[in-house]
Parts: sequence; structure tokens; C-alpha cells
Amino acid sequence: MRNVIIILSTLLIMTRSITGCRKNLHVDTEIPTPYPPLTEQRAKLATRQWVTPSRILDSSQIINDLEYLASDSCEGRKPGTAGHTRAMERILTRMRLAGVDSFNNSLIQIFRVKDSIQGKDILGLIKGTTFPDKYIVISAHYDHLGKAPNGETYYGADDNASGTACLLALATYFKNKPHPYSLVFAAFDKEETSFEGAYSFVDQWVKQGRLAIIKFNLNMDMIARSDSNEIFASGIRHNPDFIYAINEVQAKTNVKLLMGHDGGTQGADWTNQSDHFAFRQKSVPSFI
Ligand SMILES: [Zn+2]
Repeated sequence: MRNVIIILSTLLIMTRSITGCRKNLHVDTEIPTPYPPLTEQRAKLATRQWVTPSRILDSSQIINDLEYLASDSCEGRKPGTAGHTRAMERILTRMRLAGVDSFNNSLIQIFRVKDSIQGKDILGLIKGTTFPDKYIVISAHYDHLGKAPNGETYYGADDNASGTACLLALATYFKNKPHPYSLVFAAFDKEETSFEGAYSFVDQWVKQGRLAIIKFNLNMDMIARSDSNEIFASGIRHNPDFIYAINEVQAKTNVKLLMGHDGGTQGADWTNQSDHFAFRQKSVPSFI
């Protein structure tokens, strides 16, 4: 739950630094790391003062959604299964209750890659109050791996019922408190098969000549894992202009908000490990 507050705050603050410019995509390992090593970050955070956390989102709703999506009923949310359909219906219900708008009169965007099972991205929209033609995509994949050959279910509570539940709570929050930029709430399908849903989404915006109006992507994938009260914001190394946002949020939370896992030496690179990579490849600033 504390992680959710961090994500919300980070989103609100990051938005301030959006500009029309795009950075060239760097994939080399020579680009500098614009933040201190992890040991230094952790040492600094270990001694800071406790702050009073703000509770903005409906935590019982988040837990409720997480438990449902990771329950036997959803059977591990593998595309093509009844459990996946049940998960999709839960997300649709939440989006409708939140009152978000849709694209082309449907919250569901169907896609198919070659001969694979049809995929269903669920996309909600909340128009911006000041810059309605600039978009932020907040995303989380809702599919998972289903069952093992021995019948054991891969429930995927962390991967990624956690991010999906957070996404739905954020949609509810922002419907009541619209953002200056238009927000797309994207529950992507088929992340587990090479980010098919996210690529389908990005391709659509490219084909429509609209990709440039997406100013950044914040992707939530596995946000419930840490036992040490830590969460990473990965991607700063590729988008150093946003570092101030992390620093500002750190001062407002008791969770250790760390930078790393974006290439370089600070842990395995997560910036190509989930749906945000589809955005990053097209030079849209993206974070996980
Ligand atoms: Zn995942």
C-alpha cells in the first residue's frame, strides 16, 4: 500500500517536467548514472526522519482486487482461459465504476499477433484539464502464466495482480481529481508473451501519427515484492531530467524509494523487462 502512495506521488511530480523534447534512445553502457550508488542511497535513507504518510487511495479496494485477481477463480490469468476472462471482467467492472471514458466506444481493444490467441487490452481514459491533447500512459499487465503441467497454479499476486490493483485505484482517484494531462489507464494483456499488448497499443498510436503526444509511460509490474520496505523507480538513467521527482517523493514517504536497475552497475536492468520497453523503444520516457 505504501508503494501505491509513492507511485501516485511520483506521477504527480514527474508530470511537472514534461516537455515536448525527446531524448535519443541510448542503449550503450557508457551513459552516466545520474544518481548515487545503491549503498549510498540506502545509507542516506536509513537515517532520515519518519514522516506522516498521506492516505489517498482506497486501500481496501486495492487489497480486494489483488486478492480476487490472484485467486483460484482467475486460474493464473492465462490468455484464452476462463480465469483470464474473469480477471478481465473484474477490471472492466472497476473501470466502469470509476467512470472512465473509452476509446472508440469500447474499453476493450482487441489485438492478435500472427496466429496467437486473441489479446484484449483494457484502456480507460480521463481527459486532462489543462492539456487534454497530451497524454500520460499508466500501465500494468493483467495476464499471467496460468497453470503448471502438474496443475499447480501460478497465481501471480505480485506479477502482476499488484500493479493491476494499483492501476484500478489510480483510475478511481484521478476520475475524482482530474490531472492537467490526459491519462490513459492501460491494463495490458499478453505481457508474458513478449509484451504483445503494449506493442499493439504503441503500434496503434504510431499508425495514427499520435505517438508524440504521449509524454511518458509509468508501468507498474511487481510492486508488492519487497520485504525490506523498498521500491525502485527504474528508468532515471535514461531520463535524468526526472530525477528531481524521485528526490521530492523520497522526502514525503517512509518507504525507501531507490533508483537503479536501469542499466549501468546498479542491479540487473529492468528497463527492458516489461511493457514499458515498447514505449522506450520509441523514445517515449518510460519508468517502472
Ligand atoms: Zn510482470
